[in-house]
Amino acid sequence: MHITFHGAAQEVTGSMHLIEVNDKRILLDCGLYQGHRADTYARNLNFPFDPATIDAVILSHAHIDHSGNIPNLVKRGFRGNIWSTAATRNLCTYMLMDSGHIQEQDVEYLNKRNRRKGEPPIEPIYTRQDAENSFDYFVSIGLHRTVTVADGVDLTYFDAGHILGAAFVQLDIREHATGKKWRLVFSGDLGREETPILHPPEAPADADIVLMESTYGNRLHGEFNQARKMLRNVVRNAARRRGKVIIPAFAVGRTQELVYVLNQLDADGDIPSLPVFVDSPLAVNATDVFRMHPEEWNDTVKQFLLEDGRRSPFDYANVEYVREVRRSKQLNYLDESAIIISASGMAESGRILHHLKNNIGDSRNTILLVSFQAEHTLGRRLKDGVNPVRIFGEEHTVRAQVESIEGYSAHADQAGLLSWARHFDRKRLQQMFLVHGEPDAQGVLIEKLKQGNIENVTAPKRGQKFSF
Ligand SMILES: [Zn+2]
Ligand SMILES: [Zn+2]
Repeated sequence: MHITFHGAAQEVTGSMHLIEVNDKRILLDCGLYQGHRADTYARNLNFPFDPATIDAVILSHAHIDHSGNIPNLVKRGFRGNIWSTAATRNLCTYMLMDSGHIQEQDVEYLNKRNRRKGEPPIEPIYTRQDAENSFDYFVSIGLHRTVTVADGVDLTYFDAGHILGAAFVQLDIREHATGKKWRLVFSGDLGREETPILHPPEAPADADIVLMESTYGNRLHGEFNQARKMLRNVVRNAARRRGKVIIPAFAVGRTQELVYVLNQLDADGDIPSLPVFVDSPLAVNATDVFRMHPEEWNDTVKQFLLEDGRRSPFDYANVEYVREVRRSKQLNYLDESAIIISASGMAESGRILHHLKNNIGDSRNTILLVSFQAEHTLGRRLKDGVNPVRIFGEEHTVRAQVESIEGYSAHADQAGLLSWARHFDRKRLQQMFLVHGEPDAQGVLIEKLKQGNIENVTAPKRGQKFSF
């Protein structure tokens, strides 16, 4: 058996690992690499293998850095099954269409520039139509239901607690030629012990080979309860000033968590009764998928629905989901306190830019950052206190309050990763590979794992191949 690491290898995006056994080729995840434009395009466009030779894809979850290159794989000849949980499949229908749209727009922008330079136009990596074509290949299975995905390879999914539908992968592999057997576990992205909506990650069974994510291998998160208190205070203060709270938030996950926590605070009478607008078409669609999958909700959500008699975690009298552009524009003329949750989460694109532009100059308002803000994004500049900031090419003076809440993260921190890794029997564990992390985080985590007697652990480079 061979494992080749084709992405999320000493980096966090582009998750893609190839397993070869019994003359079958199985791809774990097929993510988009998200980096600076020049090399990103070529790397995503061209696979390091012929997609037609892949027999099956096993998808851990719907995030674009794990699922986002599936339409291109199908476009280039892949014809096997794409295994996923039902919630992941449903999220992918919206997220991959959205991604197709972004690919089309990106190329349009680049081609305008190419035309000026007299260079030939380039093709989008894939289109919305390619995304739609790929949906025929998805096959959904529930957690804990073992299914044979290729000759000698059985798949079982377990709850990873990271985003709706996220699962970690257990493969039971028998190699015919040698009679060897392995259990391989791939963590996908792991969630936290305590999250507002989802179940915590399940404990893995013993395994011979483990691929574990390492995003926050060098970091400990704040407490989630602290985040709830801060949100309460921000809303109270904004209401007192008769201002608005503008929240850039990821459309899938963070938005639904915020609405649910606001729903709880409202039910408890902890915040004044303010209108809440969820203004992002993808967030509105994703919330529909959350409503469709109560099997993914944890016990506190169920208890909340029973005790407070609320009919859904994502709906209460004050919440309005905004799809239409016309309605979104009306929010510019709101003359009352309100909470506006909009994407993108790092304020790089999308409707949030309009809300920031319209509200950033008023000291009664608050801009609330609740997500990781990468370098070179507007969200990061706001977080760093840059003033003025550029939005749509114009300078805006920041008079609104800028607050940030650190407690929200969909990823396990160092302690979470170590406690998950502790479940593996050291005697059986032959090799652990760290994926989905920057070298700094991985270095620290490797040391910690070694202190916990997990010795055979390494962070493979992209393209590196291991044989067993
Ligand atoms: Zn993820
Ligand atoms: Zn990821």
